[in-house]
Amino acid sequence: MASQGDELSKRCPECNSEHLVRDYERGGELICNDCGMVVEDSFIDQGPEWRAFDSEQDDRRARTGSPMTFLSHDKGLATEISWSNKDYYGKRIPHKNRAQIYRVRKWHQRIRVSNAAERNLSMALQMLNDIGAKMGIPKDIKETAALIYRKAVEKNLIRGGRSIESIVCASIYAACRKVNLPRTLDEISKASDVNKKKIGKAYRHLAKELSLNLKPTTPYSYVAQFCNKLDLDKQAIVVSEEIVRKSIEAGISSGKGPTGVAAASIYIASVIVGKPRTQKEIARVSGVTEVTIRNRYKEISKILGIPGME
Ligand SMILES: [Zn+2]
Repeated sequence: MASQGDELSKRCPECNSEHLVRDYERGGELICNDCGMVVEDSFIDQGPEWRAFDSEQDDRRARTGSPMTFLSHDKGLATEISWSNKDYYGKRIPHKNRAQIYRVRKWHQRIRVSNAAERNLSMALQMLNDIGAKMGIPKDIKETAALIYRKAVEKNLIRGGRSIESIVCASIYAACRKVNLPRTLDEISKASDVNKKKIGKAYRHLAKELSLNLKPTTPYSYVAQFCNKLDLDKQAIVVSEEIVRKSIEAGISSGKGPTGVAAASIYIASVIVGKPRTQKEIARVSGVTEVTIRNRYKEISKILGIPGME
């Protein structure tokens, strides 16, 4: 199981939370308990895990009937063209023909690789569009995500088992962050059916290799979108933001996940404006646990001097 409290000096680079936990079941990954980002990889080589994930995906694809070759062009190549000096029937190829056969194979390989790359790209962009649509992401943010994805392809970052799906999701996550309309890993994970940790890892990889330099998110960036999802109006947003401001001034948000501070502020604001939402409802749209909302609520209500709201 995960243990916590042993990484007191570290903060999540994504949300500034100090609430980091080590998951010893997964080889000691350091995970942000607030936003779900994998802050540090496990001590153990990730190779076998990636491969297992890929074969899992292959199975899924095989079941749904879409071609497997999208995922790994090498696989198709390996089964189709043998690199030995034997022909299809296992007879040795005469020496004089070898050079020619080698050229044909080489040429065949190049075509296959470029076709596979194009197919991969078009599949990835289609996927990006679908996931973006599911999440209600506007066109310009999807374009930004596509640009980030293309850069990842150019820099050859989609390899070593890192699936296309997780890089697509990471591109969407990064694009939303870039325009300061962050979406939670939870939300992208739900829309894409890709594991949250895999998205987080792929994102960290992108951020590092493409030097994205995105600043940590703040509670403000989540207030409007969470309120919209809760069907709360402008007044609730304004009051929530005011509560966020007071929380930040009082130092409550320091080292705490921004989604938790936003969620608790909205909880209080919804009561103040007479449109109360339950902690459960807020937990659902924010991806923050009810326990975290309650903890932040207690801290914030203390500085606001509003007892007995629970
Ligand atoms: Zn975090």
